[in-house]
Amino acid sequence: MQRLKVGAIKLHSLEGELPPDKAVTIRRLYIEEITATDLSKVGSYSIDIDRVVSRNCENMIGAVQVPVGVAGPLKVCGEYADDEYYLPLATTEGALIASVNRGCRAITKAGGAEVRIHRDGMTRAPVFACKSVAHALETTRWVEAHLPELKAVGEATTSHGKMLGVTTYVAGTSVFIRIEFSTGDAMGMNMVTIASEKISQMIVEETGAELVALSGNMCSDKKPAAINVIMGRGKTVVAGVFLSDEEVREMFKTDSETLTSVNYRKNLVGSARAGALGFNAHAANVIAAMFIACGQDPAHVVEGSNAITTVDRMEGGVYVSVTLPSLQVGTVGGGTGIDTQAECLKMLGVAGGGEPAGANAKKLAEIIAAGVLAGELSLLGALGAGHLARAHKHLGRGQR
Ligand code: NAP
Repeated sequence: MQRLKVGAIKLHSLEGELPPDKAVTIRRLYIEEITATDLSKVGSYSIDIDRVVSRNCENMIGAVQVPVGVAGPLKVCGEYADDEYYLPLATTEGALIASVNRGCRAITKAGGAEVRIHRDGMTRAPVFACKSVAHALETTRWVEAHLPELKAVGEATTSHGKMLGVTTYVAGTSVFIRIEFSTGDAMGMNMVTIASEKISQMIVEETGAELVALSGNMCSDKKPAAINVIMGRGKTVVAGVFLSDEEVREMFKTDSETLTSVNYRKNLVGSARAGALGFNAHAANVIAAMFIACGQDPAHVVEGSNAITTVDRMEGGVYVSVTLPSLQVGTVGGGTGIDTQAECLKMLGVAGGGEPAGANAKKLAEIIAAGVLAGELSLLGALGAGHLARAHKHLGRGQR
């Protein structure tokens, strides 16, 4: 503490001299003193931090606790997830879990959510500066003519990553190379970035283009972007369920016409009028809560919530679906190994590497997509029945 106060040791260097628990304690005590704040609750945690301080969180002072509840059972009929699941949802939004739970009940009663993964590829798009528009075209032509060589240098950096393809984009003298990898059970952002660096070095050597940034924002990581909606990023997952008129009436106290109309005017017309990228009711709610519980990168809720919800009126009922073009999930790497998050992944039977590699991440993606469908259904139903304000008053505000 004394050395910290006189600047003889930096706050981030404590782990170099002390075991992780001690380093975190000293850092917290120092911050408590400097900010005159009691951080004893932040300092009370159950996770083993030995790997966390080196892999997940610099300058650690403790942990915040987000309550975790469950919704379910939710029957999922996917190609990887084919069972009933209790969804772990980490949230502080009263009424959310109750609402998702109602959606789960409706889906399970109706026989389960069909879920399919249409695409799976994580992207990184370095940007290069060229000397002229002619040089820019030469560069993209060289890239397109040398994909096998680029694939070989990229894949040499990883045992699980496989280069799926490359798309090129140009803006004046700027050239963007959007590189796509399948990444097994890893969400893959580090994996693809490391591979992209090697690929970029080869492009620089062979074309004379200058690498300006390893990420040129056409990836597009953690920013709302149409490219992810159109081209996909991570997993493109679609979940759907048929509900009979009777099931809609019984579960949601509304009718199929109203459900279809609420979806059309709110999720489709309203979102179009607002210029939204997400044509859904609250996909981000379920994605954020499951991402936090399951050790996913919470910033990827941005891309995850690019979802489109549809309600098709059909003979005797409605077919409700959600399409998530860019759901980025992993069951190894990142925050997935932290004790509490790993427990939540275990609950779903997806902790660690799958057999074959990639099966666990796909299973998780299917379960999350089915959870989003449950959330959408329930909120559309509540809006249809005019229940929304009442539920929030009772479960959120009412208990403050
Ligand atoms: P990672 O932990 O960096 O890499 C995954 C590791 O797991 C790889 O070393 C891989 O080995 C290994 N692995 C073992 N079994 C595997 C399996 N069954 N499937 C796939 N890989 C397996 O994780 P990541 O998913 O690439 O990156 C996630 C992290 O990146 C998160 O912490 C996230 O916050 C962060 N992030 C980074 C950036 C960036 O630009 N770097 C951007 C956004 C987020 P091999 O590679 O040898 O196959």
